[in-house]
Amino acid sequence: MSQQPGQTSDGSRIEVVANIRNAADARDAVKAGAEGVGLLRSEFLFDNRDTAPSEAEQAAEYCAVARELGSDRPLVVRTLDVGGDKPLSYLPLPKEDNPFLGLRGIRVSLDRPDLLRTQLRAILQAAPLTRLHIMFPMVASLDELRAAKAILAEEQASSGHADVKVGIMVEVPSAAILAARFAPEVDFFSIGTNDLTQYVLAMDRGHPQLAKQADALHPGVLAMIAMTCDGARAHGKWVGVCGGLASDERAAPVLVGLGVTELSVSTPAVASVKATLARWSMDECRTLAQQVLALGTVAEVRAHLAQQAR
Ligand code: PEP
Ligand code: MG
Repeated sequence: MSQQPGQTSDGSRIEVVANIRNAADARDAVKAGAEGVGLLRSEFLFDNRDTAPSEAEQAAEYCAVARELGSDRPLVVRTLDVGGDKPLSYLPLPKEDNPFLGLRGIRVSLDRPDLLRTQLRAILQAAPLTRLHIMFPMVASLDELRAAKAILAEEQASSGHADVKVGIMVEVPSAAILAARFAPEVDFFSIGTNDLTQYVLAMDRGHPQLAKQADALHPGVLAMIAMTCDGARAHGKWVGVCGGLASDERAAPVLVGLGVTELSVSTPAVASVKATLARWSMDECRTLAQQVLALGTVAEVRAHLAQQAR
């Protein structure tokens, strides 16, 4: 079962892919039945060292991951996502009162285009080896997307690797609200529910006291996911979820019912998410999604899902 393609009980395809950090993770994910990689957290290449990794070092790692997956499986590489809760010793960022609201994700890359260019050149080297996707994190405005895409287009032109899909993470409420306007300019969206929850609820994702309330099943977060799917659908683009909510088997039928067609989960969750999807038809997922969208609190959503669990 875990090696079968992910699908609902009536045969709608839902790709169940994995969140990984490196080639060893990719191998484990494929063994566990992952159909590809929906989030390669590239910052792990940049961590725990004194200098930024060179283009050759990075390319070796991206290509190693791509070889593990092979030419038929998708690989979504997220460009460097640092700042906020992810500092780097050799990339001193200004001291900020609110680092989660400061230089993070794509904002760092656009502030340091030299780092972004090096990374994009390295990622593009994996293009002949796999179904390569490049994804920008923490995008809040079309200006950021366009600036990042312009740099990517230049690097593609000089490398000759044109066949790459480009997407954004939906982690900032403006990206969800404007999904219909982003959609013509991207190939796909991947919803980062960890950050999206923090920014929709204005609750620090690591706050010890608020951790329980910062729940991705909050109706406000679900409404943002629904908006993203509606905006994407209008332009024929696909939506994945790569935040922690995707690994929650109770949430899987809700996400699918909202229009999500790719779930990028932690490797240990691959089998259980596939097994859950196989117990729900697409119509049942849609009905469940509409039911939870109408609820008012996290507790009501969780109680409803517990009652409907299969
Ligand atoms: C997210 O924010 O949901 C996400 C997948 O990114 P990260 O957890 O790496 O910030
Ligand atoms: Mg994030």
